[in-house]
Amino acid sequence: MKSCDRHWKMIRDAVDAAGMTALIPETGEAAAKALQAAMTEGTTSVDNFDPLMFAYMAIVAHAVELVGPVLFMDNDDGSEKCPQCYLTMLHARVCNDPECTTKDFDDWATHAVADAKAAWEGLRNV
Ligand SMILES: [Zn+2]
Ligand SMILES: [Zn+2]
Repeated sequence: MKSCDRHWKMIRDAVDAAGMTALIPETGEAAAKALQAAMTEGTTSVDNFDPLMFAYMAIVAHAVELVGPVLFMDNDDGSEKCPQCYLTMLHARVCNDPECTTKDFDDWATHAVADAKAAWEGLRNV
């Protein structure tokens, strides 16, 4: 699973809009540590917090909750599934609610970054 370029940019832009770009680690080593922390509950701290990874993991967790481990399986062409694209495709296929207004899952990017911002503020207040 991996966000497509379009959705990754959306998450990045939302992090930027939330004023948290400076928190994104610059080195691969720091990014790996932040990812590890984001994936292990209760280990995120002010020192390893990465809003981009946090938001991405929130989207992943939410998507897996909805559709399950199929998200971790690559597409037939070998590419990795983008959680937001996959949900959009799946929803279009299975939703038969004539009143449904859901067209895509793009707004998950801003929701996830809002969660990241709240988490960051929570970390700074302890
Ligand atoms: Zn996508
Ligand atoms: Zn629907």
